Amino acid sequence: MGRYVYLFGGGKADGDGTQKELLGGKGAGLAEMTRLGIPVPPGFTISTEVAVDYAVRGAEYGLRDEIRSEVRAALVTVESLMKRKLGGAERPLLVSVRSGARASMPGMLDTVLNLGINDDVARTLAKETGNERFAFDAYRRFIMMYSDIVLHVPRAKFEEHLDTVRYDVATKRGLAASQWNKEELKRRLPDSEIPASELQKLIAVYKDVVTRETGKPFPTDPELQLWGAIRAVFESWNNARAKTYRKMHGIPETWGTACNVQAMVFGNLGDDSATGVAFSRDPSTGENRFFGEWLPNAQGEDVVAGIRTPLPLRREAEGAAGSEPDASLEGKMPEAFQQLVEIRNRLEKHFRDMQDIEFTIQQNQLFLLQCRNGKRTARAAVRMAVEMVGEGLIDRKEAILRVEPSSIDQLLHPALDPKAEKTLLARGLPASPGAVSGEVVFSAEDAERRSGQGIGVILVRVETSPEDVAGMKAALGVLTARGGMTSHAAVVARGMGKCCVAGCSAISVDYDEQVMLITIYADDGTKKDTRRVKAGDVITLDGSSGSVYLGRVPTAPAALSEEFAELMEWADDARKMRVRANADTPLDARTARNFGAEGIGLCRTEHMFFDGARIPAMWEMILATTRLSREKALEKLLPFQRADFIGIFREMKGLPVTIRLLDPPLHEFMPHESAQLEKLALDTKTPIDELKKRSVELHEFNPMLGHRGCRLAVTYPEIYEMQVRAILEAACEVAKEGLDVLPEIMIPLVISRPELDRMKDLVDRIAARVFAEKGCRVPYLFGTMIELPRAALLAGDLAEGAEFFSFGTNDLTQATMGLSRDDAGKFLPVYVEQGLLATDPFQSLDVAGVGALVRHACEKSRAVRSSMKLGVCGEHGGDPASIRFFHEQKLAYVSCSPFRVPIARLAAAQAALSTVASDATA
Ligand code: PEP
Ligand code: MG
Repeated sequence: MGRYVYLFGGGKADGDGTQKELLGGKGAGLAEMTRLGIPVPPGFTISTEVAVDYAVRGAEYGLRDEIRSEVRAALVTVESLMKRKLGGAERPLLVSVRSGARASMPGMLDTVLNLGINDDVARTLAKETGNERFAFDAYRRFIMMYSDIVLHVPRAKFEEHLDTVRYDVATKRGLAASQWNKEELKRRLPDSEIPASELQKLIAVYKDVVTRETGKPFPTDPELQLWGAIRAVFESWNNARAKTYRKMHGIPETWGTACNVQAMVFGNLGDDSATGVAFSRDPSTGENRFFGEWLPNAQGEDVVAGIRTPLPLRREAEGAAGSEPDASLEGKMPEAFQQLVEIRNRLEKHFRDMQDIEFTIQQNQLFLLQCRNGKRTARAAVRMAVEMVGEGLIDRKEAILRVEPSSIDQLLHPALDPKAEKTLLARGLPASPGAVSGEVVFSAEDAERRSGQGIGVILVRVETSPEDVAGMKAALGVLTARGGMTSHAAVVARGMGKCCVAGCSAISVDYDEQVMLITIYADDGTKKDTRRVKAGDVITLDGSSGSVYLGRVPTAPAALSEEFAELMEWADDARKMRVRANADTPLDARTARNFGAEGIGLCRTEHMFFDGARIPAMWEMILATTRLSREKALEKLLPFQRADFIGIFREMKGLPVTIRLLDPPLHEFMPHESAQLEKLALDTKTPIDELKKRSVELHEFNPMLGHRGCRLAVTYPEIYEMQVRAILEAACEVAKEGLDVLPEIMIPLVISRPELDRMKDLVDRIAARVFAEKGCRVPYLFGTMIELPRAALLAGDLAEGAEFFSFGTNDLTQATMGLSRDDAGKFLPVYVEQGLLATDPFQSLDVAGVGALVRHACEKSRAVRSSMKLGVCGEHGGDPASIRFFHEQKLAYVSCSPFRVPIARLAAAQAALSTVASDATA
């Protein structure tokens, strides 16, 4: 470690915007803004290296002396820039001590504001500002925040006293306080209405609380306060909610947070002061318009915490849901607004991305407290990326790399059916798009519990806090009564891609009674009705419009934007691999094509047999004891199968369709319930005992390693014969209609060359027969899945007998790792949680192990047959990290479920672009 502390202030900064790893996102942003000459209160950043060192040494050893002396020196510089002194008898300096990791973790890590106050400082501040209320309020807040974060005295211990004071003041003022619950009282008598004399008394009470709870008086020495806060910020990296957040977002545990100490500026010094949060473009829709919220006479946390419903920045947005008329910053403080707009423009040009900005106006003077690349919905990410190319800010390559492939899942999901009948309950802010219905729950624990029981829930809270994150994750959607578009609920839900309606002020939540009361307004704004919605009642949220409906409302498919289509076109130009879909029906095939699939990589034929009229014929086939009776049953299945293939070939006209012959063990098709078994006995005129006997015969101890895949066709070749006939008869029929058909017949679970050759003979024999009968020939390919380690190891030999391979990485993972696909759910999450496996290998390919087999098979098969067509059809075909690996192996295509096709197209493009970039720098 060289230096520990990086100063910024007075137009100069030791660090800059590129140093996110060292200074954290916040520290790097503050340094860069300072360098750009944007007004930023001076301060310094203690680097993430210090945090790591502190964690490694152990908290009991505290901060190293060298670090303390650098901090002291930096503080002296800040004091001279501010012409104030920490703990000074005149012009005292107050500082904020904030966390700031490399990646944004909103609200997860700790922050202490107003640090540096004690009794003397509070009195000096009151005199200096001429505002006693301000000074004592700052002091009160500081004691509460510091005690909570540094001394670990729960906030509730202080809040109960504040509530009592609030109640007394309300009563004295003749407000009928007893009718209201705590939340309502807070709304009617906000903190700013509590007089200075009461705050002073409250401070004394708070100090007693601290002495009682910790056995020591509250620290009065500002320097001691500072050391305590710095250590607490570093330690907050390891709080439970931060750990959960990191796990969800794949942020490494080892990073640690930087710590920013910065001179305080105050947005709560009167009506010429304010605070706010802004996005340089709309983070929800991506529209290029300045978007934000502010509150006059308030401290920063008030906007984000959702205690008061914030006001719009621009005049244009006045009167929108949740805001009052004539309340915009543009209208109320036009000069500061203009200056903010100019800064917004400069920051966007400079960072070439949408910025999330925090600002404070202290007595008409504007300060920026933070800027970073803003979080956005997938819809907004796509629109911004495409529009920024149009504006010349970025190029197409950068646009493609800016959109997180897995996030576009959000765009592909249904919205409310516009034609559906619905009962509107209330309207809030459209905080995060999507449409969901679910049962109401009022706590994060209930959300987790109910969703664990398989019930879709909507988490309803007055406002959310970081403690609610696990519940938000478990819920389908989130509804809050308070808070704006930048509230915790809105930001976190958007990051999760979860539907959220925030700041729905018509609802009043009663946690004790487990109900919410909703005031229904008539068109003229008068109160029409009140409705009660209890826990367990079903509601529907529309996160795109901010509407809340009673009951379940049907949804309609997603409509994709023009920008999305454009970005996808760019991605298609950039990628090297093709993207196919796993589709088993003509309908799936159509969906896949609409999403841009360039063929079918896996058509699992067994799914075709589970359907209504087919399953009895399937049962008959399974129960058959002679080849003849089996063939009779298969004859009944043939027309169904042929019709399915005709439908699929028509949908996929001109594109390749890989059809896998029957794979699962036959017992999977047998009825399990006794009613079904009785019906089968009746239909097939077979005694029920005989059926049960057959079921027992079919039972296997390890069905996944048993009589399945091509092993079925070794013992019952007539099954595959029927399937090959159905495929090629269908192909001939569709070819006769003038459409191109490209069937690829794929054999599952092959482990040896003789086995493969046997299957090839079967396929070619039936093909010759069908073509002779039909007087028509269609080209077809013969290939196999590589889904067992032996097949991968002997790929060179197998390649001599096959024209293509498709890696079945589901089975390949199962067999290579010895992990049962069906049972691993019981312990795999523990492995991932404890770091024994980096990720679930069924979701993201185990590159080191399974990947080594894939690599080996690619090399060996290409050595034998240079034209070998190689693809993948396991679930990994839709996983961005795995797609990168497949790109590196130069596979011809990946195949995934239809809804993941766009994700795969984008991920394949990103893989191609970033490989080019790393090749260039190598
Ligand atoms: C596989 O094993 O990867 C595969 C695609 O086949 P299935 O999932 O049907 O076993
Ligand atoms: Mg398989």
